[in-house]
Amino acid sequence: MKIIEEVRNAGSIAVGGHIRPDGDCVGSVMGLYLYLKKELPEAEIDVYLEKPSEIFDCISHIEDIKSEFNNVDLNKIYDVFIVLDCADDRMGEVRPLFQNARKKINIDHHISNPGCGDLRIVEPERSSTAELLYDLMDAAAVDAETAKALYIGIIHDTGVLRYSNTSPHTLQIMAELIKFGFDFSDLIEKTFYEKTYVQTQIMGRAILESVRFMHDRCIVSMVSRRMMEFYQVTSNDLDGIVNQLLSVKGVDCAIFMYETGTLEYKISMRSNGKVDVASVAMRFGGGGHVRAAGCTMNGTYHDNINNLAIGIAEQLDIE
Ligand code: 5GP
Ligand code: MN
Repeated sequence: MKIIEEVRNAGSIAVGGHIRPDGDCVGSVMGLYLYLKKELPEAEIDVYLEKPSEIFDCISHIEDIKSEFNNVDLNKIYDVFIVLDCADDRMGEVRPLFQNARKKINIDHHISNPGCGDLRIVEPERSSTAELLYDLMDAAAVDAETAKALYIGIIHDTGVLRYSNTSPHTLQIMAELIKFGFDFSDLIEKTFYEKTYVQTQIMGRAILESVRFMHDRCIVSMVSRRMMEFYQVTSNDLDGIVNQLLSVKGVDCAIFMYETGTLEYKISMRSNGKVDVASVAMRFGGGGHVRAAGCTMNGTYHDNINNLAIGIAEQLDIE
């Protein structure tokens, strides 16, 4: 199946992703937007997403993203709306645009997503939505700008081709993408590894204050709103902390949470495969992958740890 066959006759098309978009979400959404714009120059094509981190400013036409939802007409009816990297419940304020569209397409790789809309392409064995999208595109019509966006998506969701979701096919696609000659080394450095000074400081603080429990097989840390104000950081600046926590020798599961409101926390979990963190996150209305998942929880920091620990302990066979 090729995506172009599903949208060829559409006069108006919209592409969107999930709230707090990560690298795969931004890369996929922009990759598909750039591809469709080139393939269907006559069509009206819009792209909706919460404002991505400025590390993604290197992606061509990123400024086309409609992020100011106040100025968006939520009654508009698109011929096709394609939502990527999530189901429509994580789209945020633009969800009505998807629901009102004449044709709704969902493309994702999250095991927790049952799929939504009229055409549902959810393949959990894929490293990333970007990888899946590349196969849904006509390779001959992919240009350097689309390739770069998809490359960023794959890099971010595989932790620079390090996570176990990386397959031989992922690497074959990466080989095709780097043939376009963009500076992939610089892209990886600037979008994945480079941190600002305050990002480095808050990561240091979170690591310093981390605590191990469950016979040292779990590790947890938290950043409060007060700390975020002190370091002048936003949630975008906290990426990478939970992965760093999982790197501690002997740890099977890492939990990181930051305060989003009164008694409200955004939770990120990572595992080395011994714990299915998606199943733990799903108990609290979240989702994700076996080794990387998240949810939002209400309660105190300690209540949340206790509640998450129940599902983790069951899987680690700890009383
Ligand atoms: P992160 O911890 O980096 O925010 O997210 C890890 C993975 O879990 C990503 O694939 C992300 O899409 C997914 N995820 C994080 N939070 C949620 C959530 O609240 N709901 C769902 N369904 N997935 C989430
Ligand atoms: Mn993804």
